[in-house]
Amino acid sequence: MAVIPIRTVPDPVLRQKAKRVKNVDSAIQKLIADMRETVVAASGVGLAAPQVGVSLRVIVLCVPKKDEKNEEYCLINPEIVRRKGERVLKEGCLSIPGYIGEIKRSEQVRVRGTDETGKEIKLRCEGLLAQAIEHEIDHLNGVLYVDHLESQDKLQKVEPEKQEPEESIQ
Ligand SMILES: [Zn+2]
Repeated sequence: MAVIPIRTVPDPVLRQKAKRVKNVDSAIQKLIADMRETVVAASGVGLAAPQVGVSLRVIVLCVPKKDEKNEEYCLINPEIVRRKGERVLKEGCLSIPGYIGEIKRSEQVRVRGTDETGKEIKLRCEGLLAQAIEHEIDHLNGVLYVDHLESQDKLQKVEPEKQEPEESIQ
């Protein structure tokens, strides 16, 4: 396994629509293992393959839970099948270091995809996990959270080392 450098704006790979994974083979499994190591090293909550320069529909999530083990998932070809509710929250991105912005996300999402063994998974998510899933699937479509800002004054400069974990996560 290896930590992969994270691409930052304006790297064009972040604006490409990522391709679907056709076969879950050993190359994909290695990519997922490396992405898991990278997201942990970056103290992130999620990471999408384009952020490590690979334009494929793969995301990993590593959501901290108080007094519990992190919730860890990897999703290949993830699709949101349902969104419910709306909330305003602060969000950051590992590919846009030093900023957080206030945007709207769904309260709950249902997502389906495949795991690294090729098995279909369906998740019903809320809270930080729902936010992270919407954020990471946006990455697969070349969308960044700053695209959801109502106005530029909803973007705030922060010291990267002082960012709260849940704000610096993705
Ligand atoms: Zn991001």
